[in-house]
Amino acid sequence: MASPNSISFGGDILAPIVRAAIAPAWARWERSPYLKHLRALRNTQFQPRDVILGAQWEALRKILLHGYEQTTYYRERFDEAGVNPRELDSVDDLLRVPLLTKADLRERPGAMVALPFRGIPLHVNKTSGSTGVSVQVKYDEITGQLRRAMTLRSDEWSRWRLGERVAAVWGNPEYVQRGWRGRLRNVLLERATYLDTLKMDESAMRRFADTLRRRPPSLLFGHAHSLYLFARFLRFGGDVPFRPKGIISSAMVLHDWEREVIEDVFGTPVTNRYGCEEVSLIACECEQHNGLHVNADGVFVEIIRADGSPAQSGERGAVVVTDLVNYAMPMIRYQIGDMATATDRECGCGRGLPLIERVEGRIADYVVTPTGEMISGISLTENFAMLIPGLVQLQIVQETASQFVFRIVRGADFGDESLQVLEKLVRERFGCGVEYECDFVDRILPEPSGKYRFCVSKVPNPFSSVASSVSK
Ligand SMILES: [Zn+2]
Repeated sequence: MASPNSISFGGDILAPIVRAAIAPAWARWERSPYLKHLRALRNTQFQPRDVILGAQWEALRKILLHGYEQTTYYRERFDEAGVNPRELDSVDDLLRVPLLTKADLRERPGAMVALPFRGIPLHVNKTSGSTGVSVQVKYDEITGQLRRAMTLRSDEWSRWRLGERVAAVWGNPEYVQRGWRGRLRNVLLERATYLDTLKMDESAMRRFADTLRRRPPSLLFGHAHSLYLFARFLRFGGDVPFRPKGIISSAMVLHDWEREVIEDVFGTPVTNRYGCEEVSLIACECEQHNGLHVNADGVFVEIIRADGSPAQSGERGAVVVTDLVNYAMPMIRYQIGDMATATDRECGCGRGLPLIERVEGRIADYVVTPTGEMISGISLTENFAMLIPGLVQLQIVQETASQFVFRIVRGADFGDESLQVLEKLVRERFGCGVEYECDFVDRILPEPSGKYRFCVSKVPNPFSSVASSVSK
């Protein structure tokens, strides 16, 4: 929809100055090595896959040994399981290493901090607790600067370049909490304009659009659904005031129908990124938008079946991630609670970084039908949203195996036909023994983190029970 009359990105004379002078000077002042890391990472991403996987495996062995030798938690867990990290030679050995769950993290965080890091100041990342369990992960400054560089490398895959303006549709801008230094840094270095997702009403979106008209951003960044809502707002107004070089969707699963609207409105491809507070960046799409490249310098990703064995290429499974850089509080075989599809494809972009085919959403968001079939909440909401006329927003809540609530935001053309289609879809998808009710609301509210949840299942599935039993 971005028309030729749209104001495109341009006239940003400060960007090359930030890139060449302000950012390096600021990094020297902060004594931060992140720009040096970034230069190295730009090169290593194009190494052959076997070189990258070899280095990743060595980093994995190193962090396992460190966890075993320097934390009481992993020492106990590995001994109980009969695992000696010095003898880790193959994926089969790795599968014997116990999984780490959110419950473990909540129960014994102190025992997971490595001995050399006890008593020194550490950063803390908290998760929002959207699946009912809020956890905290500590990390040191060295890890923070490495992560900063790894995130910037993936930012650049969107075609944005360091120093260029950013528009962020995000909750709780971090710079505000850092006082005047944070504000100065934002003006001179990060150059981000924020739309707070927790106050995202029409007038806030209009003000945001007006600001971006005056100072067009090179990158639009945000939660998938918030980007979609903003794109839809601009489409209704018939005026898209800027056209970014890149768009990064992060922190939530990006639905295909959201991607279509965002790309159509801005005339720019969306770069889908996957990460979490606990380990930061996990994977990100490159310019080819065909699968997500694993951030192999920072994490080791496994996709496993319900019985704990590795999923094959093309198969869906639970995501398990080991953080390769956080030595302060090692995160070893952490079960994030998400599902993804594995692949051993290589990408045509020339990067040797391995791929994840698709991120499928949270395990807790899977609906389990009365016959035991698992249906991804993402595909369900996508399917319903496409087929039901007049549906603006939908949240599916599975209360029990046979009871559902559909929270629906109606558009002008929502009517009897919409309800008939809904009835038909419910019978097709879940069978005749299922009861449901419709709850018509003005808005589906985001969670405190600013993220939206479109499918909530209160029924456990094979992956949720395996995750907890393996870890006990
Ligand atoms: Zn690629």
